[in-house]
Amino acid sequence: ATNVHSTDVVIIGAGPVGLFAIFECGMLKLRTHVVDALDMVGGQCAALYPEKPIYDIPAHPAIDGADLVDRLAEQAAPFNPTYHLGQQVTTVEKTAGGWRVGTDKGTVIDARAVIIAAGVGAFGPNKPPLDGLETYEGTGVFYMVKRRQDFAGRRVVIAGGGDSAVDWANSLAEVAAHVMVVHRRPKFRAAPESVSRLDALVKQGRVEMVVPYQLSGLEGTEGRLTGVRVADLDNHEKVLDADVLLPFFGLAMNLGPIADWGLDMEKGHILVDQRTQATSAAGIFAIGDIAHYPGKLKLILCGFAEAAMAAHAIHPLVHPDQALHFEYSTSKGVPGA
Ligand code: FAD
Repeated sequence: ATNVHSTDVVIIGAGPVGLFAIFECGMLKLRTHVVDALDMVGGQCAALYPEKPIYDIPAHPAIDGADLVDRLAEQAAPFNPTYHLGQQVTTVEKTAGGWRVGTDKGTVIDARAVIIAAGVGAFGPNKPPLDGLETYEGTGVFYMVKRRQDFAGRRVVIAGGGDSAVDWANSLAEVAAHVMVVHRRPKFRAAPESVSRLDALVKQGRVEMVVPYQLSGLEGTEGRLTGVRVADLDNHEKVLDADVLLPFFGLAMNLGPIADWGLDMEKGHILVDQRTQATSAAGIFAIGDIAHYPGKLKLILCGFAEAAMAAHAIHPLVHPDQALHFEYSTSKGVPGA
């Protein structure tokens, strides 16, 4: 059964700009639902550089990506946005009263207006090209570890040569029955301290190195993974007995379905009217990195301003009978109250 919601504005993307749009909409009494393909809010700041300082957020001489996201979520919270995380918006269709947004998880949201704050596209894991991969996703194949305990007592194959592969090998060695690490090369591109720890675990026999190998197939019965096939550089195969495969090949960004929604675009960006952030479809607005207009700068601070402009342009669509008198936030008392 699908899950149908109704709201004033759907925000596609919970990056910094989408999060601030919740606040700007909230100040104008516009209710919001927010969808993001990632399991967490924060977009590029959270996924790509949580610990890197940003120096050009006004009034913050330096603030880490993760801290900026936490504060934006806190600032938005009084307006009670509904988050739909871990799902990608696949469809945006015209309805009599506005737009209907649908996700790959079956969530449906009806709204008067849509704000697309989709950055450079939806984040998703890079997947290894293995036959039957989808059969095991969520049961034997996982692209992220939510709870370490889920892998207690299991035989785990980790594939990859970066920080995620090394860090999770070190961590899961404490709880899993057996941990094997498959990598194309003997060298890992990860923090030296983590690599030393991994070397020590290998010496103690708590982690098994499978190098230089790459993934070549999956084995299982009735959707249950029983083994991971790997091949060396001469294509000699062997099977690793395993219950779980964790491929850590990084994140990819995929503009995906956005290009099919019939909006005027240029080189992967949505063209907007700079005065309102309106796209070529009435009632759909675009802000942040995905939006383009002459002179556009892909900066978080510009995205914040665009969020304010979109919210003001949406107000008359949702409240046609209420004139909007421009006010400062300070004149409104506590946000959301
Ligand atoms: P994003 O942060 O890209 O977020 C978009 C979100 O939309 C993503 O979470 C994505 O999963 C989601 N999404 C996309 N399509 C869909 C869909 N169909 N369904 C569901 N969800 C979807 N900017 C600065 O101003 N200062 C800096 O110092 C700075 N440093 C940077 C350093 C690095 C290493 C990088 C990579 C960028 C930096 N930037 C900086 C740029 C800044 O991060 C971006 O401008 C900002 O993240 C744009 O925010 P956004 O909300 O528009 O998009």
